[in-house]
Amino acid sequence: MTETTLSSLLPDYVVINDPTSKNKDVLRTPAKKVIFPLDEETREILRHLSAKFDSEDNCAGLAAPQIGYDRCMIIFAIEEDEDIKNFRPDLTDTMPKSIWINPSWTPLSSETTIDWEACFSVADRVGRVSRFTEISYEAWTPEGKKIEGTACGFLARAIQHEVDHLNGKLYIDYVPEADLLTREEFNKLRDAEE
Ligand SMILES: [Zn+2]
Repeated sequence: MTETTLSSLLPDYVVINDPTSKNKDVLRTPAKKVIFPLDEETREILRHLSAKFDSEDNCAGLAAPQIGYDRCMIIFAIEEDEDIKNFRPDLTDTMPKSIWINPSWTPLSSETTIDWEACFSVADRVGRVSRFTEISYEAWTPEGKKIEGTACGFLARAIQHEVDHLNGKLYIDYVPEADLLTREEFNKLRDAEE
């Protein structure tokens, strides 16, 4: 099977500001907790989520509701990357590609950091979002093993962004509409800063 055929079989993104996008309620409804051991339907959703993530060149993370499934599952990867570090100096903690089931987090202090975010569920928008700088997290692997740890900087931001999707929240909820930029405006701004 060619790559094009395969990607056309993957579920579409649910996009909140795209009038043609269906099933938008899934982005605004708390997702269902996953029960272990995973049933076949849940495993199938995980395969879709993983394949969708792999089909993107430039994707830090995805949550199941973004492709239409109301399940508490996210996939993400925050890797060491000099290009990204140029504009995200707080990319210090890293995480290899991981699937987390029923994840949650707690801030470790009141310190916050403001930085740009975008999302596959919000077409052509970029905005500056305040997030907790340091968090603790817990989640489960697909095999049911508990994961616990702490995360700082961009990794903490990515976890907060993805877990928000499981609670029916989007990053644009934290940004006044007038402060959101289009991709083009954002790229111009970044070019001007360089
Ligand atoms: Zn998102």
